[in-house]
Amino acid sequence: MSTIQQNLQDVRSRIAAAAQGCARVPEEITLLAVSKTKPVAAIAEAIAAGQRAFGENYVQEGVDKVQHFATQPEGATLDWHFIGPLQSNKSRLVAEHFAWCHTVDRLRIAQRLSDQRPAGMPPLNVLIQINISDEQSKSGIVLAELPALAEAVAALPNVTLRGLMAIPAPEQNYQRQLAVFGQMSDAFQALQQRYPQVDTLSMGMTDDMAAAIAAGSTLVRIGTAIFGARDYSPA
Ligand SMILES: *Cc1c(COP(=O)(O)O)cnc(C)c1O
Repeated sequence: MSTIQQNLQDVRSRIAAAAQGCARVPEEITLLAVSKTKPVAAIAEAIAAGQRAFGENYVQEGVDKVQHFATQPEGATLDWHFIGPLQSNKSRLVAEHFAWCHTVDRLRIAQRLSDQRPAGMPPLNVLIQINISDEQSKSGIVLAELPALAEAVAALPNVTLRGLMAIPAPEQNYQRQLAVFGQMSDAFQALQQRYPQVDTLSMGMTDDMAAAIAAGSTLVRIGTAIFGARDYSPA
């Protein structure tokens, strides 16, 4: 068995254990394999092991991978999620090549994604990114801004508001992780009351997936535990 195949099995077991620990069923939780900086060979191994949903952070790198796998036999069965910060001048590439965007944090970006979504493709699934704990970070809105942004995004024709996403500040303590994720979960449930199509709460990474699942995450974004540490040094 390859390392990636083994890692995927381990991560799936960890998700199942976390779900069972809080009386949830593992099928409620989507595993998004975060493949940023990793070569297509690593993604191909994950695909061979049954993985179908992949997350990419950098627009051009992501588009290159989407296009590579579009020509492969499994291409049509893959779900590509854009999970990185998005600048306006790159929105078209996301609208044209991805199924999901997790990082909508202003109306202007959502409008561009909707305008630029090609006719003939289903609406782009979008999540609103919440800046839940990290005041230093410029990504994401504060919760007080959510009702107005959600209403405006939900009204756009070619995107579907599916839920919320957060990247909390790194925190080793499980109880403190749980407290932050709990705030996200409350906001998510309130959003679901208002918008019936909302079904996705994207939170949890390699180091905090158990707490995220306990708090109600429906999608965990896992990179390191599947593909190993990332190397950002110049080639
Ligand atoms: C890189 C990244 C991940 C994966 O993080 P790991 O700790 O490697 O699992 C998840 N979400 C986002 C938004 C990321 O940028």
